[in-house]
Amino acid sequence: MKNDSLEQLFTSLIRNRIGAEYFAAGEKLLAYLKDYLTPETIVGTGDSKTLAQLGVYELLREGGCRFLDKYRTDLSRKEKDRLYRDNFSADLFLSGINAVTLEGKIVNLDGNGSRVAPIIFGPGKVFLICGTNKIVMDDEEAIARIRNTAAPLDAQRLGKNTPCAKTGKCMDCRSVEKICNYHTIIQGQFDRERIRVLIVEGEYGY
Ligand code: SF4
Repeated sequence: MKNDSLEQLFTSLIRNRIGAEYFAAGEKLLAYLKDYLTPETIVGTGDSKTLAQLGVYELLREGGCRFLDKYRTDLSRKEKDRLYRDNFSADLFLSGINAVTLEGKIVNLDGNGSRVAPIIFGPGKVFLICGTNKIVMDDEEAIARIRNTAAPLDAQRLGKNTPCAKTGKCMDCRSVEKICNYHTIIQGQFDRERIRVLIVEGEYGY
């Protein structure tokens, strides 16, 4: 990633009262996260291919924190639903994002809101982890990236019966299985210490 683009991104995020850190490699990110984990820290996560690729879920399962692990295969539907609600009172919430703009805005699209809602309200601290592949110019490019890259690939991964899962492009559907229900743009926050964007050099997620 070019230094001047990163500089512009950081300047814009900070102007919008959003913290930012840059990591040249995934291992450095994991070392950074470890510093925030104690046996008492309650940690929730959003569904994220980026977090999976970077080994964040494994880190949280190592026992250094109280991980609200909704991926455990022994959970009943009711227990899993409880964990989704517990995310709102977590000390720390970790999630991927769909795009971050050079204007300092964080853009996300969600199917049921379980990821974007606790990003916006609830957990004491929120770290949004993204590869440099998610950095775009502006809102328009962010939306194009979501419609034509992120959402179709996610719909395929989830086995959804949507037009984009077949064509690889958004057809602006009204499908009951549509995954584009909650479109959020974060462009500021009251508590400048709450949301922080952690940028990792490289391609992660989609
Ligand atoms: S609106 Fe429909 S077709 Fe477009 S990306 Fe979302 S699910 Fe796919």
